[in-house]
Amino acid sequence: MIINLKCPNCQKLKRSVNVLDILFKNSKKSLLAIYINEGFMCDHHFQVYINKNGKVRSTQEIDIQFEKANVIKTTLIDLDDLDINKIKFHIPVKCMAQIIWSVLLDQKIVLLFKSSDIPFLDFEDPFIINQIHKLFKYITQINFDYKLSLITEKNYKDEQLKYDDYIVLFGDHIINDPHKILKMDEIKIVYEFVSAFYKEEVEIIAVNILKKELDRTYELTKYIINFLDENQESKKLFIHDIESFLNEKYNIKIKEIGIKYLLQIIVNYYKTKIPSIHKK
Ligand SMILES: [Zn+2]
Repeated sequence: MIINLKCPNCQKLKRSVNVLDILFKNSKKSLLAIYINEGFMCDHHFQVYINKNGKVRSTQEIDIQFEKANVIKTTLIDLDDLDINKIKFHIPVKCMAQIIWSVLLDQKIVLLFKSSDIPFLDFEDPFIINQIHKLFKYITQINFDYKLSLITEKNYKDEQLKYDDYIVLFGDHIINDPHKILKMDEIKIVYEFVSAFYKEEVEIIAVNILKKELDRTYELTKYIINFLDENQESKKLFIHDIESFLNEKYNIKIKEIGIKYLLQIIVNYYKTKIPSIHKK
């Protein structure tokens, strides 16, 4: 969705692209309040209200009225200075897939890095750390929480015990996987869309591949949770029944592998107990 923003204070204009459709999809509210941070486009902070078509209905400096409207609130994240290529250079594709899979399964993650004298390779550079956090903040907005820490290899060695319960990754190496969740065959779906992110050269399209997949995954887990709520009495869970439910109620077709992927997220992320899974 493209939104045209105008500061009510200095009248500065900015065209901003953000994926906000999901916000409306999951809400009955008709207006979306977007909080614009100071520094996002000028020195002011203000609030804009947009409707479902992305049209700005009203802009105001923040003071009164803030709480009055029937709105969902969000913050726009400025992607202009996001250097996706630098992030791709620092995080190998497999590692990125492992991080995202860990996020989906509600794991705490530590990504280790080495310092380097070569500025471009220097992972300790606060710029690259901020970039990685900015990417994750954006792609996980309004879906899953991420718990990712970036520390040096040396810091990790000094405080290793503290991270017993964390997924610990170092480039292509898995240093710690306490709950044995990083099996390659289970990461397949995530690996596929993460690969698409790495192959896409247009940065804003690339980053929105990740955003859309996480939004979609989030949305689908909510649908399946509805199914589970409606079938609380069942002792057995049939993949086929979920397939039919999604197809009939939401007109969505998903294969068995996709349903299993979603169920794994539901069990781990939402800590939901599910009956034993059967094929037919
Ligand atoms: Zn301004």
